[in-house]
Amino acid sequence: DLPPIDGDFYNLDLKLSEEQRELQLKVRNFMEDEVRPLVNEHWNRAKFPFEIIEKFKKLNIAGVPYEGYGCPNLPFLMEGIIAQEIARVDVSISTFFGVHSGLAMGSIYLCGSEEQKQEWLPKMQKLEAIGAFGLTEPNVGSGVAGGLETTCKWDGENWVLNGQKKWIGNATFADVIVIWARDEDSNQVKGFLVRKGNPGFKAEKMRDKMALRIVQNALIDLTDCKVPESDRLQKAESFRDTAKVLKMTRAGVAWQAVGCARGAYESALKYTKKREQFGRPIASYQLIQNHLVEMIANLTSMQTLCFRLSELQDQGLLKDEHASLAKVYCSMRMRDVVSRAREVMGGNGILLEYDVARFVADAEAIYSYEGTKEINSLIVGRAITGYSAFVN
Ligand code: FAD
Repeated sequence: DLPPIDGDFYNLDLKLSEEQRELQLKVRNFMEDEVRPLVNEHWNRAKFPFEIIEKFKKLNIAGVPYEGYGCPNLPFLMEGIIAQEIARVDVSISTFFGVHSGLAMGSIYLCGSEEQKQEWLPKMQKLEAIGAFGLTEPNVGSGVAGGLETTCKWDGENWVLNGQKKWIGNATFADVIVIWARDEDSNQVKGFLVRKGNPGFKAEKMRDKMALRIVQNALIDLTDCKVPESDRLQKAESFRDTAKVLKMTRAGVAWQAVGCARGAYESALKYTKKREQFGRPIASYQLIQNHLVEMIANLTSMQTLCFRLSELQDQGLLKDEHASLAKVYCSMRMRDVVSRAREVMGGNGILLEYDVARFVADAEAIYSYEGTKEINSLIVGRAITGYSAFVN
């Protein structure tokens, strides 16, 4: 007895428990009432709507799957459902949230000491402290596993970080930025909690992005940035630990792709039923219906795949290749859905006020971040053939 929602063709929502559906609807209503009215203008001006953080707090959805530290400890499935609901209205806001709750909190949850978790997770859960995650660099994107140029070195009193990071979401205003760097002595990757205001840390907002314009991505400069041993992530021994964080969050990105496709599909469906040409709604024409059916078929396949992905995650059976396959498949299908949505809307498909143009642009960011389509394909390729096609 959920209100009819066009983009859930196989009624997957019915698989949720009553409390889970309640939370889903709470997030949906919040996104419709508080976020939808302001996203197009903020996207256009490349501004982050800071006022929504205060309202977001009431949803109690940060760190949803984590246990302890004030976190809700709900199934990973709910993290996915929430990612879908947020991205269904706006992908930038879902990225802000994913970086904070998934990448930053997740790094601390998986790689932090007990003291570090006690210090950061409760206030991050309440969005009283915001997190960022700095892995990518100007010269190193896909090749981060073996190629990080940012270094750390122990000087006898502190760790000293030097280098640059690029694309780091939330970093212009975050209270804590997880920075991954290669140890000059051991050559292993280590993680650090760099606090806002550290004099060796500068974050400059990246301008003129054509996607996710609400997300405040930064170019970070680290010059002799000193970090005490107590702020080194104590359980991050090598890139393998960074990869554990990425495996967990990649599942959420696949769900974001579902939300992006769903938002575009629902807008397009509504539009085609209202828009008349040649005296009839365009939804009554066969060629338009074909587009709509291709869209809902794509969307339904993405949703069912992601449901199973989250089940694997909840059963502790998730492997890197499972998360990568979902990321590859959902980002390809999402691209197809948003471009068909834009097509059936004619000229209005490129106007911000009709929402779909924003989804078309933002889909391009989902396609590339948290491992591009190629890199995630190589992870799956390695798993199914036994041959690694990466070169390092
Ligand atoms: P490159 O690695 O230079 O790749 C260029 C092309 O070459 C791609 O098509 C790639 O697939 C292909 N390629 C590379 N290697 C191979 C290979 N071996 N075989 C075949 N093809 C290959 N990073 C963070 O750390 N934190 C963030 O918060 C963050 N937010 C982001 C937000 C946005 C909007 C974007 C766009 C990126 C963000 N990123 C972030 C970075 C993101 O993860 C990288 O952009 C991504 O990993 C790809 O790296 P790259 O852009 O340097 O592309």
